[in-house]
Amino acid sequence: MMVISGQTVVCGIIGDPIEHTMSPAMHNAAFNALELDFVYIPFKVKSVELRKAVEGIRGLNLRGVNVTIPHKVAVMPLLDRIDPLAERIGAVNTIVNVGGILTGYNTDAAGFLQTLHDRNVATDGKKVVLLGAGGAARALGHVLTLEKAKLTILNRKQELSWAEDLAARISRNYKTEVKALELTPENLKKAMTYADLLVNATSLGMSPEIEATPVPAELLSANLTVFDIVYNPLPTRLLREAKAAGAKTIDGLEMLVRQGAASFAIWTAVKPPVDEMRAAALSLLQKNEK
Ligand code: NAP
Repeated sequence: MMVISGQTVVCGIIGDPIEHTMSPAMHNAAFNALELDFVYIPFKVKSVELRKAVEGIRGLNLRGVNVTIPHKVAVMPLLDRIDPLAERIGAVNTIVNVGGILTGYNTDAAGFLQTLHDRNVATDGKKVVLLGAGGAARALGHVLTLEKAKLTILNRKQELSWAEDLAARISRNYKTEVKALELTPENLKKAMTYADLLVNATSLGMSPEIEATPVPAELLSANLTVFDIVYNPLPTRLLREAKAAGAKTIDGLEMLVRQGAASFAIWTAVKPPVDEMRAAALSLLQKNEK
């Protein structure tokens, strides 16, 4: 059982909304398992307060924070240093504070990559359809390109420029062609005819909108692997329908655990207790379902 003292090292997460975050459960379970004198706290931070919140990391001597919706991109200019991979991706989900110097990392990329490897998903030369162009999609797009996938990014019209910006950024960094298209029924249908791997990095299907799905069931088939990074609920409607179509399916839980474990290692320099982190996340998800 955790006892907070004057020596306890404080970590946390900044985002808005933050009420449904799984990260405090995962990280506090990990600190407890290893008897580390650390604690992890959620901080609801509105966009207009982001600058003050980042100053607060220094002012309150926090060890570090995770960064979630909607701050992963906006936080970057407020930091002192950015890890080269996070710089290329253009999004930060982890900040570490060493003597008042704040450095930004992207552990979504590592979490996604480890999950692909764990589940033996081949990407070299494979045609991948990536849905979304937000903070998480940026990391996924870079990982998939590094892993030599042939990438098509679809995002809704509202922010098509994000998809174009992401495709241009990847093409520039890796000298490879990436397509960016508007997420319309016609474009989706066409892209799905040649896809080997479908990755959902939109928030469609996330609780409480659990009946929403980014891809109609008739476009799913047994030749596909479908990776939905949404982890609440487990499985999403997209994964239920993909499974029914005979596709190989991967949910967002393992990526969540792996990105959290990578952040944990950055803050503590200790090997993360991945099994305890997974169990804590699963137990919270099951509790929320009741
Ligand atoms: P974000 O930056 O807010 O991006 C959200 C994306 O979803 C954008 O591309 C957005 O399109 C799209 N979108 C939202 N509503 C849509 C709708 N009704 N129709 C079509 N597209 C829609 O969020 P994020 O950080 O990338 O997170 C996205 C999802 O991934 C969330 O559910 C999050 O929980 C999950 N996630 C999971 C992990 C994990 O470890 N498993 C890690 C990170 C995120 P616009 O650009 O047009 O707004």
